[in-house]
Amino acid sequence: MPRAAAALMTLAMVAPAAAQQAAPVPLPPLKPLELRLDHHDVPLPPIRPPRPGEEAVQAPASQAAEPVPPAAEPVPPAAEAAPPQPSACRLALAAKAAIMPLPPISGPGECGAVDLVRLEGLVLADWSRVILNPPATLRCEMALAVVDWLREDVAATAAAMGARLTAVENYDSYACRGRNRVAGAKISEHGKGNAIDIRAFHLADGRRIEWTDLAVAKPPRESLKASACARFTTVLGPGSDGYHEGHIHVDLAERRGGYRMCQWNVLDLTDLIPLPRPRPTEAPQPVPAAETEEEGPAAE
Ligand SMILES: [Zn+2]
Repeated sequence: MPRAAAALMTLAMVAPAAAQQAAPVPLPPLKPLELRLDHHDVPLPPIRPPRPGEEAVQAPASQAAEPVPPAAEPVPPAAEAAPPQPSACRLALAAKAAIMPLPPISGPGECGAVDLVRLEGLVLADWSRVILNPPATLRCEMALAVVDWLREDVAATAAAMGARLTAVENYDSYACRGRNRVAGAKISEHGKGNAIDIRAFHLADGRRIEWTDLAVAKPPRESLKASACARFTTVLGPGSDGYHEGHIHVDLAERRGGYRMCQWNVLDLTDLIPLPRPRPTEAPQPVPAAETEEEGPAAE
């Protein structure tokens, strides 16, 4: 082969490679860089011209950096619209009482409660109705305790008086306030939906029985006191603190050591007549000193 021809062939063989190197190399897509710009805390790499062969590596990266369609984002409408499941307490309550679920209350201060209900009435074992007048706003567990007490004990007390229980007067239930409505006092159990004040009940024959009325026979009021003190951790009535001469307060306060308060002097008119001998007292058990300091006087 002549030298010139061989040189030409050599040139022809290397020409594609030389031409490839000399050809303008396309810039990589800018998308990865744009995406990085969104993350201000990530330092940006220096921009350098790409080398041959890098494009093949960068291409998948560039594809991977494409914005991912938000396929998994939307929440199925069914899951979003599903109402919260009622608590076991509320299910138990709904079987024997007329209730309306209420939204939770939070504040002001320490006041508030979850799983609140408006208790409007209940049905007795014989399916007769008892109205709570006005309806009471209570924590579900407290409402359940009140309903069970009224159904099982208070209704029996009424029946022993000769007529069916038809209504109970609610004097106060949920209320964000200090004990005994004293501003600045420790928060009342009423501020947690954990207490109710009751004044009287009504019977099917039209009688209205005030629980603190000295003219009402003692035995039924004694049974009301006994059943209340068996079911609730706090019972305050006449003789407790001067704030409960006209109604009975019951609550489910939790105290250190399971301490309970049962302070209700069931008196009648004969107790007001001075007797020559000291009459048996129904004064409450003395409150331990430590408990007095922490809880203060019986006060709701
Ligand atoms: Zn009260």
